Amino acid sequence: MRRLVVVGASLAGLRAVESARRAGFGGTITLVGAEEHLPYDRPSLSKAFLDAGGPERVEPFKQERELREELGVELMLGARAEGLDTGAREVGVAGRPVPYDALVIATGTMPRSFPGADGIGGVHSLRTAEDAAAIRAALDAGARTVVIGAGFIGSEVASAARKRDLPVTIVEALDVPLTRSVGPEVGAACAELHRAAGTDLRLSTGVDEIESSDGRITGVRRHTARRRGRGDERRGRRAGRALPARRPDRGRGDHRPAAAHHEVPPPDREPRRLGRGARLRGRHRHRGGLR
Ligand SMILES: Cc1cc2nc3c(=O)[nH]c(=O)nc-3n(C[C@H](O)[C@H](O)[C@H](O)COP(=O)(O)OP(=O)(O)OC[C@H]3O[C@@H](n4cnc5c(N)ncnc54)[C@H](O)[C@@H]3O)c2cc1C
Repeated sequence: MRRLVVVGASLAGLRAVESARRAGFGGTITLVGAEEHLPYDRPSLSKAFLDAGGPERVEPFKQERELREELGVELMLGARAEGLDTGAREVGVAGRPVPYDALVIATGTMPRSFPGADGIGGVHSLRTAEDAAAIRAALDAGARTVVIGAGFIGSEVASAARKRDLPVTIVEALDVPLTRSVGPEVGAACAELHRAAGTDLRLSTGVDEIESSDGRITGVRRHTARRRGRGDERRGRRAGRALPARRPDRGRGDHRPAAAHHEVPPPDREPRRLGRGARLRGRHRHRGGLR
């Protein structure tokens, strides 16, 4: 085997490259990445990077020289792999075939999109350095923020807003946040921490649609879940209430409203396919409407 191609220039892709060299692979390695950046650390994006006066740029795990000279990697950055011919053993990258003997696909995950949010200013996902820079700019401008989802990343965005004393609401479908990751006790403790920090935490609440005016977000329309008897089963119920994502008392300056939503659908929570402005119906409506 002489040619290793790794698609996905982030943590997993980089580790694959390093492991191959450590194992004694002496052939060519091509690292293909859709982003323009060298592999960088995503976790910092929702932490120090969002602070006022935080770092200007995200530090790569390794500098380009180290990748090229020490690991002998040919870099193809800002280049999306668009096709795979397993018969010919070629990956199509930016219109040209890249041959391989071994291929590693390390393309990671993508944020779950919110129906109807495309093209609305002030609505952000958080996955890349550019996303984080856009959210920080919105916070710098004093955004009143609605965070959809009280998972780790949503919670960190809310904390970043509260650190700046900005108003923030988290809308979360579960009745205890982070239950699947840390269990109900720690999840409840996290909820208390949010409240103590001044975050408006709305549990058992989903978002039906994003409201906008002149192409910018003005709020989200939420609905609350109602218990059906004693069990844990819930039925979504439209409350028809809007949560503003704009600072109501501001008339001056560029106080951009923002809503952040993230990230990856866990396997049991695939997003529903909804059209623009679609209403969610039936049982578990509150779940499907969230992300
Ligand atoms: C804001 C944020 C905060 C996080 N905080 C933490 C934390 O505190 N602790 C923790 O453990 N984890 C955290 N994570 C998760 C962690 O960053 C991921 O687990 C990790 O990035 C996964 O690495 P990966 O290489 O598998 O995938 P990814 O980092 O998703 O990288 C995949 C790469 O593949 C590229 N790609 C996709 N398709 C193509 C294509 N067709 N052609 C070429 N390239 C392509 C993408 O552009 C991307 O650069 C966080 C994630 C985010 C977004």
